[in-house]
Amino acid sequence: MQAKVDFLKVRVRGRLVHSVSMSVRVRFAPSPTGSLHVGSLRDALFKHLFARHHKGANILRIEDTDRARYSAEAEQDFIDNLHWVGIDYDEGPHVGGPHAPYRQSERKEAGIYARWIDEFLKLGHAYKAFETPEELVEMREFQQVNRQPVGYFGGLWRDAAPSQAEDAERAGKPFVIRQRVPRGVTIAIDDAIRGRIEWNSDTVDDPVLIKADGMPTYHFAAMVDDHLMGITHIMRGEEWISSAPKHAALFDAFGWERPIFVHCPVIKGKDGKKLSKRQGDTRVADYRADGYLPEALLNLIALIGWSPGGDREIMSIQELIEAFDLPGLQPSPGVFDLEKLRWMNGHYIREMAPHRLAASLRAYLAEPGTKAYFLREAEADDALEQGRREVWDGLSSLAVGLEEGAALATKALAMEQGRVHTLSEFGEATAFFFQDEPPMDAKAVEKWLTQPHVPVLLAHFLAWATGMSALSVEECEAAVRGYAEKQGLEKLGPVVHPLRVALTGRTVGPGLFELMSALGPARMAARLARAVGAAR
Ligand code: GLU
Repeated sequence: MQAKVDFLKVRVRGRLVHSVSMSVRVRFAPSPTGSLHVGSLRDALFKHLFARHHKGANILRIEDTDRARYSAEAEQDFIDNLHWVGIDYDEGPHVGGPHAPYRQSERKEAGIYARWIDEFLKLGHAYKAFETPEELVEMREFQQVNRQPVGYFGGLWRDAAPSQAEDAERAGKPFVIRQRVPRGVTIAIDDAIRGRIEWNSDTVDDPVLIKADGMPTYHFAAMVDDHLMGITHIMRGEEWISSAPKHAALFDAFGWERPIFVHCPVIKGKDGKKLSKRQGDTRVADYRADGYLPEALLNLIALIGWSPGGDREIMSIQELIEAFDLPGLQPSPGVFDLEKLRWMNGHYIREMAPHRLAASLRAYLAEPGTKAYFLREAEADDALEQGRREVWDGLSSLAVGLEEGAALATKALAMEQGRVHTLSEFGEATAFFFQDEPPMDAKAVEKWLTQPHVPVLLAHFLAWATGMSALSVEECEAAVRGYAEKQGLEKLGPVVHPLRVALTGRTVGPGLFELMSALGPARMAARLARAVGAAR
């Protein structure tokens, strides 16, 4: 499966910073506490594209050392939604692999971190620190008041005599284990996107590696695992840049070869602010429930912070894999543009062959998440809740239509395919095809069915449709044009508009002749009969 990539070249702004022989191995290492959100999806997608581009390995590792926040349900949500968009893993808790287990809590139970922290203590790169929480608060306050860098730069324990620490431990004092970050040196990384970044090590505080309860922190567990799992590129969000000197120092202290750091740009909303609920949904599950297609979501998200060069925008997952590499990654924040996502989704919907579209809709309607999304209670906005209920009503009609008559449903979908942007919009757009008595818009009735010529018009078409077995688009067109001519009408409007309202309850919709043909004579007759009543 894995090919060796010889001379993998990593360029930073045109400069070659690495030319090494390696098989790419990357990991998505979430700490699942809630549902997968768009930012994490982008993180996972970049790694997927990079691993697949280089025919390397994509690994899922669950960072669940914060047991109070970890949720098994959230982990399942991650795996499920990643699978839905088409991101799968070569190694991970759900598929196993040579470095199992892939959950850090299980790795802790297996003694992995204990073994390496012992080694680190022995090497002198870590030390036990016995400050109480109150003492730490005091230290912080002192630093703030005196305008000193805030953090743990040694406290009482970094340079304490070994016997002092032994005494404290023997006395049963709780302690954490901290990293002894070297002092008085420059720590530098060559980030694949940002180039060389340097820190004066005196500004880098000594992070906790093992907490008082024996659990490793992210700083320790992630780096030990990245080493043991042979991770070649630590691709992660730019919010981790400030931790990079600690991590680089840790790799150096162990004498391990450092992976290449790739700090990916953050995602912002169109307003330039951190992506939040205000700019639309942030959970992948919500986009899925709202009828976005995986190919559209992947396409849009891949272009946030990465560019294939040129002005290519619509790209299939295969094209993304072929084009994706580190030089296309940008240091500046990427923007999540919901309008663009809608546009892309509309594009992918239009591209779908009829049978695939119907199959996708069936699967979409059968998913429990879809109904739950539209019928959930609004937090504050009643109008919003009402709107969503209406969408669900439309979708329920479509579900019945898809079940009852594949032929009508296929025609209805084809007629709306060019107009809708999401699968959910098919509901409202097509509901009138399948409802026995589609709701009549009062304004439309008032405007078009109360005109003096309408009762005769409706009666004519009712008589025409009654007893027919099927009608082609051409036959319907001929009937409408023939009637207008016979009545001496110069324009089709006075015939077309009342008929449309009678048949659909609305003033806008697909072309009338296609619509009439698709509905068929029996449905048409029933609706015209009802409209005759309304027109009186
Ligand atoms: N568990 C970390 C997070 O969820 C992983 C960061 C990383 O990729 O190293 O943010």
